[in-house]
Amino acid sequence: MPAAAAKAQIVVYTPPGTIKLADNAQWTNRFEIRSESSNRVYVVSQNKAGRHWGCSCMGWIRYRHCKHLAALGIPANMKPFEALLK
Ligand SMILES: [Zn+2]
Repeated sequence: MPAAAAKAQIVVYTPPGTIKLADNAQWTNRFEIRSESSNRVYVVSQNKAGRHWGCSCMGWIRYRHCKHLAALGIPANMKPFEALLK
């Protein structure tokens, strides 16, 4: 297939000053985000196997969606989603 026919890449823009983290066994594209309402730091990342995204906050852990993913334009509920982080 010619390169020009490749699907346009979706870009997710991380906030200025975002700290990127190394992959671990299950997760890639990992980065830290700061809470707007407290001094907590959450980790957003993409699951290597399922290709969905997750967050370390209680909202995502309990309900599989949260405002952090929503703010980044990343789908919730463990929907696979490919994006380029910038
Ligand atoms: Zn979250």
